[in-house]
Amino acid sequence: MSAAEAIQETIILGSGPAGLTAAIYAGRGRCCPLLIHGRQPGGQLTTTTAVDNFPGFPQGVDGPELMENMRLQAERFSTRFIEGEVSRVELGEHPFKVWVGDECYRCLTLIIATGASPRLLGLGNEEALYGRGVSVCATCDGFFYRDKEVVVVGGGDTAIEEAVFLTRFARRVTIVHRRDELRATPVLAQRAFDNDRIAFRWDTVVSAILSDKAGVTGLHLKNLKSGDEEDFPCDGVFIAIGHQPNTALFSGQLDLDYEGYISTRNGTETSVPGVFAAGDVQDPIFRQAITAAGSGCMAAIQAERFLDDLPSEAQLSCHQGVCFKR
Ligand code: NAP
Repeated sequence: MSAAEAIQETIILGSGPAGLTAAIYAGRGRCCPLLIHGRQPGGQLTTTTAVDNFPGFPQGVDGPELMENMRLQAERFSTRFIEGEVSRVELGEHPFKVWVGDECYRCLTLIIATGASPRLLGLGNEEALYGRGVSVCATCDGFFYRDKEVVVVGGGDTAIEEAVFLTRFARRVTIVHRRDELRATPVLAQRAFDNDRIAFRWDTVVSAILSDKAGVTGLHLKNLKSGDEEDFPCDGVFIAIGHQPNTALFSGQLDLDYEGYISTRNGTETSVPGVFAAGDVQDPIFRQAITAAGSGCMAAIQAERFLDDLPSEAQLSCHQGVCFKR
């Protein structure tokens, strides 16, 4: 019986720390979960360099390496992985339905760990200039800016990390921040203040991205306090102004908060019994790899309890499929 024909006990959407931790726990606890991930498995950590604050790694660990290890651990506990974009879900009936292209997968519990995506400035040519001077990932694109002049927009941890990383390549990195105080944690902020290749433009916003045929040539900046405007020549701009949750698929089917994050209670329960949400998709506050992993663990445990409480015929329908009890 194929994975699409069987009723799965647990389907997990997303392969960041939340999804993979849910997979490790669901796999150990019950049966082989089915994890569906997009074309870039591993989530946001695969675009990070050193992760210094994930417990258990006194010297820090590379983001991609950490995610690969989590994946191997999930595989060890029989997680099956499917690559594909989920185009639709139907949560109104049980078993739930998840479509990947024409293939429909059914499941008794669903763990949503689809994470969040980088937010953009909303300027007209921003997306058209992707890969030609506009980037949201210094780890991915920094190498192309050797001896160049680059700008990082934002004042949070991500902006500071990106800026410090970019000094490995760029001649100068200017952080453009809309306030006169960084949001970043002090220890990270100090790294930027101590780095003589990093400059700051405070109280400043980007009102236009200047470009020619080859790509970005500069930014039009506006100082919000003085009202002064200037054209700032640069070769690249890295946008690091936060994220938006990847919840479009669930709109109208699950309760979302005003920013679009999935509302959860009692840990990872959503407004639909049997559907759980973990990681950045439900967390506008902490958004750390370790908190995502923690909520992935909670989601798997709550999914298992939900399965245990189902009538035996529902459980049986699953066990006759590809799932099995350990
Ligand atoms: P964030 O903390 O939400 O910071 C976003 C920054 O972008 C803020 O400084 C914000 O300005 C600015 N901003 C937002 N919208 C803007 C707009 N339209 N125009 C200009 N500026 C705008 O996001 P983040 O830096 O991506 O961090 C997200 C979470 O991940 C945080 O909890 C952070 O601690 C965590 N994180 C941790 C690490 C680490 O520990 N190594 C690394 C990266 C991220 P205001 O300050 O004025 O609001």
